[in-house]
Amino acid sequence: RICYVNGDYVAEEDAKISVFDRGFLFADGVYEVTSVLGGKLIDFDGHATRLSRSLSELAMPSPVTRDELLDIHRELVTRNGIEEGLVYLQITRGAADRDFAYPTDAAPGIVLFTQTKTLIESPAARAGIRIVSLPDARWGRRDIKTVQLLYPSMAKMEAKAQGADDAWMVEDGHVTEGTSNNAYIVKGSTIVTRQLGTEILAGITRNAVLRFAREAQMKVEERAFTVEEAESADEAFVTSATTFVQPVVSINGSEIGDGTPGPVARRLREIYIEESRKAGI
Ligand code: PMP
Repeated sequence: RICYVNGDYVAEEDAKISVFDRGFLFADGVYEVTSVLGGKLIDFDGHATRLSRSLSELAMPSPVTRDELLDIHRELVTRNGIEEGLVYLQITRGAADRDFAYPTDAAPGIVLFTQTKTLIESPAARAGIRIVSLPDARWGRRDIKTVQLLYPSMAKMEAKAQGADDAWMVEDGHVTEGTSNNAYIVKGSTIVTRQLGTEILAGITRNAVLRFAREAQMKVEERAFTVEEAESADEAFVTSATTFVQPVVSINGSEIGDGTPGPVARRLREIYIEESRKAGI
């Protein structure tokens, strides 16, 4: 597998960065994951735009332009022969003597790699996933896509220990989002998902799915919802770049609807995949 490290395409064994890199020492870095379908990048522009925003919120310069970034993504997809899978991108503030203050002389570091992954024929999409709710103990700037992912990782482990597949995190009585996805419920014919803010990540898939839902004349409400509301919803689902739309079939042991993937989630998954295939670059 060929990786990209600071300007060079290198074999995986040679893809190395400094122990002084602030991504490693302080989680001082941001990332993006772009899915690949039929060898094409899905929603590249959305990911590039969010990346710029994450960087600017952290006063971190970008080592590449949008066009260079696109070229690197495409080059890696080609070199690694990715038909279906993902491209992972990470930018960190770079290597410097360890100090809490941002260094003035560090050059930002950039790393990309690819992963082949079955995205469309996903067993989890067919069967739906089981969710448990857990407290949201992350920091307060979840709108910035940083590599600080330890709490989501702990929450995922706790969900698995409880016999579920994933967790929805809860703050002040309301669901924020999933460990690595945005959370939705369906009440009657209305899709409900939390409004954007510093409490959640503005999912690129969320943006596309809400647009497709509105175009299909579905009703969408962007507001916070409680765990109780979710447990008694008609349907629930999650979205992310690599899982698209994934139905949720139980929350805290309560079956959602009849305990099988609901029609709204199934339809949105179909539309999302079809439209993404058409729009991939
Ligand atoms: N929320 C969180 C916390 C995430 O980690 C992700 C996945 N990166 C998402 C939402 C979904 O974002 P996207 O649709 O851009 O993958």
